Amino acid sequence: PRIIGADATREDDAIEASIRPRRLDEYLGQQPVREQMGLYIEAAKHRGEALDHVLIFGPPGLGKTTLSHVIANELGVSLRVTSGPVIEKAGDLAALLTNLQPHDVLFIDEIHRLSPVVEEVLYPAMEDFQLDIMIGEGPAARSIKIDLPPFTLIGATTRAGLLTAPLRDRFGIVQRLEFYSAEELARIVRRAARILGVDCAEEGAVEIARRSRGTPRIANRLLRRVRDYAQVRAGGRIDHGVADAAMKMLKVDPEGFDELDRRLLNLIIENFDGGPVGVDSLAAALSEERGTLEDVIEPYLIQQGFLVRTARGRMATVKAWRHLGLQPRRDSGA
Ligand code: ADP
Repeated sequence: PRIIGADATREDDAIEASIRPRRLDEYLGQQPVREQMGLYIEAAKHRGEALDHVLIFGPPGLGKTTLSHVIANELGVSLRVTSGPVIEKAGDLAALLTNLQPHDVLFIDEIHRLSPVVEEVLYPAMEDFQLDIMIGEGPAARSIKIDLPPFTLIGATTRAGLLTAPLRDRFGIVQRLEFYSAEELARIVRRAARILGVDCAEEGAVEIARRSRGTPRIANRLLRRVRDYAQVRAGGRIDHGVADAAMKMLKVDPEGFDELDRRLLNLIIENFDGGPVGVDSLAAALSEERGTLEDVIEPYLIQQGFLVRTARGRMATVKAWRHLGLQPRRDSGA
């Protein structure tokens, strides 16, 4: 797997329990989100009500699942975690909802992947805390209504545009997570190092942070790989030089790009003359799925100004040509 891939690996999941922030003040960065959620949580607790439903969107690894854990913890309620593709039938959703205690939080990751039938059942559940489902088949079929405890649904998705309008409209609170700054990621790395008992100098943490594509999951993973390197080659201490050498070995360049990012930029420049080129052509040439390209690879390249999305397709910017050590074409001023 990709060392700087944003999706969770088994190893990520294993250490998750120890380093995942549990309270709002441990959830670093995302200042506006933290401030707003702190306020909404306090207000809901004060009124003795369930928190309004929350939609969180943002690229993988930015802390959507973590934020849900934090919200449930701060509310002092239990959290149930599931995901869109896992809820196959209306009955699966009914089972989850009827097992909730009042004010509990149900977290549905990849909520855009719910089937239309399940989504239909979710509407009245969100709006009126009512389940409206059909039981039985043929002439014996009938619909029953069940009252649900008031609960909070937290839905997570990579892009808001993936949701149907009726579903999106049922969330009272919408939060968008942004890529983290290098300073914020350095704080996240230092915190994780402390918990994991790793000796990590400030400049070491900064170097890891700079190459983590604005993404805490990647920062935590790079920290573990650099720790391995430090242990074997440098007496266990991570300083700037050790972080830099480890990154060279991992083939993560100073921008935090790996082979795949460089291949994408190279492809646009060498094969498509800098673009514009359609996303489907790029996906095919890279043997990657279009969704992976759009949700995982592109967002950071775009945010950092190496790639632009135009109506006619993707274009490499002057920054991209220079990063690959190439002389930009005169009209590649995208
Ligand atoms: P997502 O659900 O968006 O894919 P996660 O919530 O699983 O991302 O977060 C990925 C990793 O990043 C977790 O290991 C978590 O510990 C860490 N993390 C995420 N957000 C923060 C944050 N704001 N502060 C500190 N660590 C964070």
